[in-house]
Amino acid sequence: MIRSIRLGRAPNCSSLGNVVNVLAWSQVAVGALWVAAESWRSRRSRPEPGGGETRAVDEPPALVRRGEKNGGPHEAHVQLTRACPLPCPSCHVSPEAKGESVPLPVVEARFRELSSQGVFHVAVGGGEALAYPELARVVEAAHAAGLSIGLTTSGRGRVDTARGFDQINVSLDGLGEVYERARGYDGAQEALHAIQRLAAQGARVGANIVLSRDTFPSLRDTVNAAVQSGARDIHLLRLKPAGRGTEPYLSRRLAPEQALQLWPLLSSLVEEFAGVSFRVDCAMTPWLAAHGVDPERMRAFGWTGCHGGDALVAVDVNGRRTPCSFVDVEPSSDWISPRLPEPCASCDYLDICRGGCHAVAQHLRGELLVPDPECPLVIAHG
Ligand code: SF4
Ligand code: SF4
Repeated sequence: MIRSIRLGRAPNCSSLGNVVNVLAWSQVAVGALWVAAESWRSRRSRPEPGGGETRAVDEPPALVRRGEKNGGPHEAHVQLTRACPLPCPSCHVSPEAKGESVPLPVVEARFRELSSQGVFHVAVGGGEALAYPELARVVEAAHAAGLSIGLTTSGRGRVDTARGFDQINVSLDGLGEVYERARGYDGAQEALHAIQRLAAQGARVGANIVLSRDTFPSLRDTVNAAVQSGARDIHLLRLKPAGRGTEPYLSRRLAPEQALQLWPLLSSLVEEFAGVSFRVDCAMTPWLAAHGVDPERMRAFGWTGCHGGDALVAVDVNGRRTPCSFVDVEPSSDWISPRLPEPCASCDYLDICRGGCHAVAQHLRGELLVPDPECPLVIAHG
């Protein structure tokens, strides 16, 4: 019996994404998908603990799981380079204009190893991944290893060379001055042109929008501009206190009242932009849980909260593995099954959410494995 269907491909090189649209589907539509999924053709499959199995499907892009347990990362975020000349103040990487890049043979070997360990998809990023000199060979290497591959980019650089990726997302945190304040340079038009060019060359292209107190008020306008330019996926990301983004985090993060507005706003965007796939990242799960969004529907669609080290692994330029791109620790079982106090301990979303964003908890509380201090349920618990 199919337990969960995780739709789409990872549109981002830093955090996991979850499709929001499915939360509004009728039970009839969900049932029809489950029936259809029985005949979807697999690209690859892997056994899971307890006799289960996960299948990677290309048409439509999806991970189909039978059984309850997950036996390791299905998605890897692979850093190709630390080189990027842009000044984005919230970048989680702290790149340098002449930062180092991973030699192609090393990239190829990392892809082969990840594939042999059961990973189905790699999302590559930087720095600015478009600055990587052999991008076409990176795509070839992923496909040769049986992996699908996504790319995250600012849109500055050789967009025409980004061919063959299964998914490309361009960062677009706002328009005009909002973009400039968020990213430290006036680049919204350049990003929109990149989306247009990528869509014109046939890529599945989306926009990554980092939510901050500055970018949130104009989110609808940003989504509209991205969609008009050809984006079919909108991926919303929570700001994280990492890299260059650590110091300005407190002044830039979403205000608590904005976080509570996210779910109603998302619901209206899904309705308004029919045919566009909306995703929120793993770190936003508490903000949906606070509205009582159906946890069974989330489970059915393989929703991942803080599943770093379990569903996800990050690999930096030096080959070091961490649970996700925002933390500087080794993957461990403590992370995968944290023992959390109330209100997480008895929360209906614990298995999905896993205590909210550990990167935020570490920054604000000095401990990784404690309840996310920005979860509205944690705030209400006191
Ligand atoms: S710490 Fe957890 S919730 Fe935060 S970005 Fe990493 S995997 Fe996602
Ligand atoms: S109480 Fe804990 S488990 Fe529940 S939504 Fe908040 S952070 Fe997640």
